[in-house]
Amino acid sequence: PSTARCSREPTALISPSSSSDTPAGWPAYEASAAQLLKSASPNASLALLQVHFRQRLALTAAHGQSLTEAAFDEAEARIVAALRPGDHLLRSGYGDFYVLLPRLLGLGHAELAAQRILRELESPIVAGGRHLHLMPTVGAALATEPGESPTSLQQRASAAVVHAVREGEIIAIAREYTQDAMVTELRDALSRNALDLVYQPIATLPEQRVVGYEALARWRRGDGNAVAPSVFIPMAEDAGLAEELTRWTLQVALREFVPLQRRHPELYCAINLSARAFDNPALCEQVLAALAIWNLPPHSLMIEVTETAVLHDVGRNANALQRLANQGVRLAIDDFGQGYSSLGYLRHLPAAILKIDQSFVADAANPRTRALLEAISGMAHRLDMRAVAEGVETEAMLGAVLEAGCDHAQGYLFGRPAPISHWLG
Ligand code: C2E
Ligand code: CA
Ligand code: CA
Repeated sequence: PSTARCSREPTALISPSSSSDTPAGWPAYEASAAQLLKSASPNASLALLQVHFRQRLALTAAHGQSLTEAAFDEAEARIVAALRPGDHLLRSGYGDFYVLLPRLLGLGHAELAAQRILRELESPIVAGGRHLHLMPTVGAALATEPGESPTSLQQRASAAVVHAVREGEIIAIAREYTQDAMVTELRDALSRNALDLVYQPIATLPEQRVVGYEALARWRRGDGNAVAPSVFIPMAEDAGLAEELTRWTLQVALREFVPLQRRHPELYCAINLSARAFDNPALCEQVLAALAIWNLPPHSLMIEVTETAVLHDVGRNANALQRLANQGVRLAIDDFGQGYSSLGYLRHLPAAILKIDQSFVADAANPRTRALLEAISGMAHRLDMRAVAEGVETEAMLGAVLEAGCDHAQGYLFGRPAPISHWLG
């Protein structure tokens, strides 16, 4: 917004710091917000409410500028009545109001303030002998630390307004809006098959012969930005999309893997399953059906589960994994050593592969970490499992995992995750 668009002088009505030389519109907001953001903290956060009037243009068109201005002066007075001392009210360059609420305990208080404002604006405004309905919508954004810029705070509040108007709501909170919008987009991307899988080789040591490829999900949003799997996978689970994600991963990974498997029948494709995937009692049947559809033998699939996922409900999950193992599907325990779990569960799992968490490899310069690497791979061997070192990036790391007795390795040193076409080429 530019000051040129500002229809009138802004007002910082309540703030004692306001004065007649306050700059107009956006600069006034920016100055106040920058000042207040400095003292934002989790227990004294700053909220920005943007009050938008859906009828503004229609009113101007029907009644002209001056009557509309009079109505908005009245609206301003009503908003002031809903505020506390120390709150700031300013007019944006576009005829919306900005309300800055410092020292809030949380989002709930911002919402209460929004409701007070909406209540004040409920009854029609009388101007020029007419009853006018301004139809306000409030978007709220909360800053809980000084790091955020006034621009970003305002953008989040505006996004909340856009969301509220679109959804036919009168209040929207920015944080929820962002989450909601992202989840909606993710759900949509899954159903339109708009996610991708990339594949990373896993190689034997010391020969460095590729034995399989791990499929890793990638999501590029509509705005072109990639979202990390560590962000969107848990998000999908929270949104109840775990089953959908499993279905998608299985179908896409197996379909893409077919040509590679035809060329090298001994290779496997590894897919990651999250804890929630086991909520589906038909998981085993689903996996076997997917293999049948693509005419792949069970041993060409490896399922990776983290120890945390298994322990989520160890009896039930070990049972499902046992049934898959009985059919010949390979199992790997992922990120081993990263959690805080006991080792007891290893007795019950039919896993053939132990993937040592990459944090051990990253810290392999440390002699104690190297001792742990060696102990873990020794334990794997005693349990008749192969140990896979993850995250091998350098020759030095390779040397350490070789010395520790790891059987396989995966990492940027051997290949970065890439589309299947790259490995077929
Ligand atoms: P993960 O299963 O442990 O996958 C290995 C991660 O390490 C991948 O991250 C991979 O890109 C990265 N990586 C590989 N080599 C190196 C290396 O040399 N150095 C470093 N620093 N990193 C390396 P990515 O692709 O970001 O995936 C993160 C996690 O998201 C995965 O960890 C997995 O837990 C989860 N994930 C990814 N795809 C899926 C999926 O389709 N389904 C489920 N449920 N989870 C997935
Ligand atoms: Ca994995
Ligand atoms: Ca891992």
